[in-house]
Amino acid sequence: MNHFSLPAAQQLILQHTARLDTEIIPLAHSLNRVLAKDILANRDHPPYDVSAMDGYAVRAKNLSTCPILLTVTEDIRAGALPVMTVSDGQCARIMTGAALPHGADTVIRAEDTETVSPDTVQINVGATLGTDIRKQGENLRTGTIVLQAGMTITPGVLGILAMVKCAQVPVYCQPRVAILSTGDELEGLDDPFDSNKIPDANSHTLFAQVSALGITPTLLGIAQDNPVALAHAIRRGLDYDVLLISGGTSVGVHDYVRPTLAELDIQMHFWRVAIRPGHPFAFGTSPKNQVFCLPGNPVSSMVCFEQFVAPALRQAMGQRRLFRRTLTARLSHAIGHRHQNVEFVRVQLAQDQQGYVATATDSQSSGVLLSMAHADGLLIVPADSNGLAAGEAVTVQCLYDMDYQNTPFGALI
Ligand code: AMP
Ligand code: MG
Repeated sequence: MNHFSLPAAQQLILQHTARLDTEIIPLAHSLNRVLAKDILANRDHPPYDVSAMDGYAVRAKNLSTCPILLTVTEDIRAGALPVMTVSDGQCARIMTGAALPHGADTVIRAEDTETVSPDTVQINVGATLGTDIRKQGENLRTGTIVLQAGMTITPGVLGILAMVKCAQVPVYCQPRVAILSTGDELEGLDDPFDSNKIPDANSHTLFAQVSALGITPTLLGIAQDNPVALAHAIRRGLDYDVLLISGGTSVGVHDYVRPTLAELDIQMHFWRVAIRPGHPFAFGTSPKNQVFCLPGNPVSSMVCFEQFVAPALRQAMGQRRLFRRTLTARLSHAIGHRHQNVEFVRVQLAQDQQGYVATATDSQSSGVLLSMAHADGLLIVPADSNGLAAGEAVTVQCLYDMDYQNTPFGALI
């Protein structure tokens, strides 16, 4: 098989990723899930015209000359209904959110008035008709679609669900994900310290990467590099929708993962992608499973997860935005590039007056996980690049939540 290009590999994976069924979950658990049905408003909100301010409900035409004295007919509190009609020369004291009384058409805020006696107020400023009134149904209108299927449930969306009293929310299901590390050299987190072994990092980085998508995966532990042990562990993994296997996919004589998967009727769609780090990546499916074979090197495993696994998991959960956001940064130093692969350089991002500045972290060897631990992003070097110069504009894929920024709002105004 030839090396697949990055876009071809991503496209093929997504073509083999079906959106999952739907389920109903409690509102409190629905944050970041994807709505599976359109949601209709079941009431007008506000239920009638209400005041947007604490102040006085008046007739605008009475205020052509100000200041003017008006007689206060009643106090209207939020949640109480008015009993009096406001006639010429009158007004009602009204609280934010309280129903506008008959006869009134405008609200004057309390700050623009002076109390003369308990039932007389001086209005100091006029206002155009309808000022500071929230119209009936301005928030929600009975029978209209207020949220569309496919929307991600953000805190704001969750608030609307609460407003329409949707206590049980229809959402797309989450895939069940299992994680298997392979390698005779690996030592588990709870195993006794053995100076001849290498600690299993991939089980835990993958666990964290899956968890960051809102899915709690299952760790299957470490399988030894022999076909029997591997087949046994993989069979357990095939009880899940998605199996992530790290290590054992390369060309070593003890790399049994791909032949073992083939024996278990997993159809392998490709092996090797023209990226660095991460080229010994493979992808297979059965009617019930997706299997992602990630390279053993810890950085490669993480990079492949971001490019191939995360978009597929997001698509399965009904998300529309599948890929990490990218931003443009200036490179603080030159980077060489002498091969035909798309390269992912681990970088730290800083901000100055001109924007973001990207600087490579530590050694860029695919075995040095500290390069990832110190990184905010992956700088993408195109396959046909002859290297990047200091100061050049580059594209960086952000690894962590890009809905946040590192300056307070006040610094921008
Ligand atoms: P492999 O892809 O199995 O040839 O492994 C490539 C390199 O990654 C080897 O140096 C392994 O020791 C290392 N490696 C494989 N699996 C893990 C793991 N789970 N955690 C840390 N390093 C690993
Ligand atoms: Mg190995």
